[in-house]
Amino acid sequence: MRPFLSTAILFAFSATTFALPASDVAVGKVIELGKRDNQAFALLQELARIGPRLTGSPNAQRACLWAVEKFKSFGIENARIEEWGEMPVGFQRGSRQSARMVAPVVRELEFTTPSWSPGTEGPLRGPAVLEPTTEEELAAVSARLSGAWVVAPPASEGRRAAPAQLQRKLYELGILGRITSSGSERVTTGGRFTGLSFDNLPTGRRITVRKSDMDAIREQLERAEKVELEFDMENTFVPGPIKLYNVIADIVGTERPDEMVIVCAHLDSWDGPGSVGANDNGTGVVSAMEAARILMKSGVKPKRTIRFALWTGEEQGLLGSRGYVQKHKDEWDKISLVLNDDGGTNYHGGYHVIESMADMFRQAIAPVSEAFPDLPQRIEIVAQMPRGGSSDHASFNMVGVPGFYTIEAGRADYGHVWHTQNDRPEFSIPEYLVQSSVDHAAMSLYFANAASLLPRPATPLADRPLPSVPEFGGWRIFDPLEEHGPECDHDDDFAAYWWDRFLRELPRLARSFVRS
Ligand SMILES: [Zn+2]
Repeated sequence: MRPFLSTAILFAFSATTFALPASDVAVGKVIELGKRDNQAFALLQELARIGPRLTGSPNAQRACLWAVEKFKSFGIENARIEEWGEMPVGFQRGSRQSARMVAPVVRELEFTTPSWSPGTEGPLRGPAVLEPTTEEELAAVSARLSGAWVVAPPASEGRRAAPAQLQRKLYELGILGRITSSGSERVTTGGRFTGLSFDNLPTGRRITVRKSDMDAIREQLERAEKVELEFDMENTFVPGPIKLYNVIADIVGTERPDEMVIVCAHLDSWDGPGSVGANDNGTGVVSAMEAARILMKSGVKPKRTIRFALWTGEEQGLLGSRGYVQKHKDEWDKISLVLNDDGGTNYHGGYHVIESMADMFRQAIAPVSEAFPDLPQRIEIVAQMPRGGSSDHASFNMVGVPGFYTIEAGRADYGHVWHTQNDRPEFSIPEYLVQSSVDHAAMSLYFANAASLLPRPATPLADRPLPSVPEFGGWRIFDPLEEHGPECDHDDDFAAYWWDRFLRELPRLARSFVRS
């Protein structure tokens, strides 16, 4: 029976193959190759070795050049960096990053400082003093403040932190720095980049330690005569102006090279100690890069251009992609769609689309869903394309070019790693990266070969005038869209993440409610 069966299957397969249009055969070939020999996780480990990639830091510039070389090694000779702006002061967090309680007990602390904030020249040791929050309390401890690390009271005690004016006095009295607690076991890194100048750099050290570490410090402060802390933070400012780049690589279309599909992610990351930006957004970067490799290796010839774009400046307000959009106005009508993966290591669970796009999207995801039956995808119809958003696809939607943020599905807990010390490859899930990269390759190939461009909303949301602002918080980007608005704040991502997670958990919660 066996030989007969396999011959029958082979025959049936060949018959199907012959019946399929050439473009479907190409998609099948790409999926097969991407599943059999996938390099996405290996690429992620390589990228992680560069370290975190704060926009404008030497690491970010290094990562751009690394990505260009990688694209070239896949056979995309036109891979290049493209300038989108410049910043007045760069910042690089060196590898010397440690924090300890040294007396009365020794304890390593997990901590962070904001990007673009001062560090130390070497290990800086001093007594811990509980932060005074009123003028009376200040008077009582003022003699002990010079050379001390000031520990802010936890919000849980109902004590208010010292008002800004009082905090300024603490620095004037010569404290080494001010230490606050994170609300959980995660320490989150952000940072202000606006208004920096090398002649007037920020001087006050600001440290956040993990909640359990803060609890331990406080416990000792209540018990012991003397608590000593030591911080060593290699935070270096680099004089600018520093040029800022995106990475662009094209598989040039054979029939309509000026029309394109863009596959993108952001190469920059926050840079708190411990983090290497593996999941925000290393996983998105390597999914795009691996899609490029698979497409090149399979030898398929898309009719339209497939452009791979790795942005920087995303974490500071989608700046790199906004700079790109403004610099490439002539392309707006010719971009079929933009696919953006910036939700962590989870797999591509589908897309939110408007009704007129649904048929093409259903056809596009079908072969991927079939190839990964355990990682189902869905097409969800929404009333309109989002106006804002919290990642680089929003830069395109703002001008009416359809941009999509992949629905993230799977078991990974993005909140655990997002902007925290945990953003490392050990929390990335290799089999999901296989699906994500194959999905990017198959989707982009489908749209590159489709009979038409993706239909757009009848009334573009972004037909408003685009004011030109030459300066952006001290940064110059090419014709930025408008003042940085809250609709582009990356923090939205987190709210969206938890909302999505809540919706996904809802059936389970409902079941347990019914049971109880
Ligand atoms: Zn991100």
